[in-house]
Amino acid sequence: MRSTLIFVFALLLASPVAAQITALTNATLIDGTGTPPQRDVTIVMEAGRIRALGPSAQTVVPAGAQVINASGKFIVPGIINAHGHVGANPEPQLRQYALYGVTTTTSMATDPDEIVQLHEEQQRGVLRGARVLTVKHRFMGPDPKIVTLEQARAKVDEIVATGGNFVKVWLDSQGGKRAKLTREFCAAVMDQARKHGRITMAHVYELADAKMIVDEGVNILVHNVRDQEIDAGFIATLKRRNVSVISTLMREEAMFVYADAPTWLDDPFFRKGLSAERLALLKTNKREEQAGDPERARNIRALEIDKLNLKKLVDAGVRIALGTDSGGDLNRFFIQGFFEHRQMELMVQAGLTPMQVIQSFSKNAAEVLGIDHDFGTLAAGKAADLLILNSNPLENISNMRAIQTIYLGGKRFE
Ligand SMILES: [Zn+2]
Repeated sequence: MRSTLIFVFALLLASPVAAQITALTNATLIDGTGTPPQRDVTIVMEAGRIRALGPSAQTVVPAGAQVINASGKFIVPGIINAHGHVGANPEPQLRQYALYGVTTTTSMATDPDEIVQLHEEQQRGVLRGARVLTVKHRFMGPDPKIVTLEQARAKVDEIVATGGNFVKVWLDSQGGKRAKLTREFCAAVMDQARKHGRITMAHVYELADAKMIVDEGVNILVHNVRDQEIDAGFIATLKRRNVSVISTLMREEAMFVYADAPTWLDDPFFRKGLSAERLALLKTNKREEQAGDPERARNIRALEIDKLNLKKLVDAGVRIALGTDSGGDLNRFFIQGFFEHRQMELMVQAGLTPMQVIQSFSKNAAEVLGIDHDFGTLAAGKAADLLILNSNPLENISNMRAIQTIYLGGKRFE
């Protein structure tokens, strides 16, 4: 009797724990570090993290674990989008990202408090969609409330106090239509962010602005230079100062491509990212707007320059993170989730290898955002954010779309 009770008690104690352990066996692993794929790997996940990872023959699968044979499948890290947008009503947006395999995104405009609350919930392990990091506020052209350098510094203090993960400045005259932040103002913002130990980001378009903000100590250019080809001196400065670059090729393409009615508008992989009503608008109003856009030639050229500059940066060894500018104003039609996959294809068109693209959304993106202790690559101890793919993304980066299962914090996301 007593031993039966002890047995039942032990079972009660053991079962909730055992139920949380999942083992993926016999997979081919592309771990995000850039090392060649490893065949016949087992990954054991427990309590949101990778508990063990190694050759299947040597990796112990705990008794009671749920075992999933991933033979013939490919496991890659979850996609980290280092430049995205999540506006009001963030939950469905984060869910959409996750359904496309984007397990972490950033939000880079002036963001609602809800995003900070969600981020805090996620820190406690509640994951109903992609993990999100926010800039909380972005410094743009003239703002009557933030004029003096003291006000700029006070605003940085407020961003940090209210849960902003990064500090961002926006430097763009949009072809001479807007006044830009002054150098002095940017310098004060960068300096104050450094005092708080925050990673700094800059939206740039022109090479001259990129050079200025790099000299002021920015950590990340969240767009590539798009007005002209970059020079060797600038590339050397980026390397010396350890500045990372996010090339948002998909954004550049989406500024004009809808006028051309690309075939992918009817691809189910794109269609699942927007409602039938939104698709109808895209094929009519948006198409007409872009066809008649006076900036069309400039936008097409911006994509081509971005591709050239991206290839130069990669070849020189500058750290590149995947980012897309997806989300934000609905009328941009920057479709969250789809954009990240199309971005990968554009990066390959620009001359990157599929392995370089995979690194850009895993190891590099995590390092750029300062979250590489927990995220990015797949190894024992890291967060269990990963994708099981039906086909090999190293053969064709479009195979990143062949997602069989998404694991977010060690749990199947669907
Ligand atoms: Zn953006």
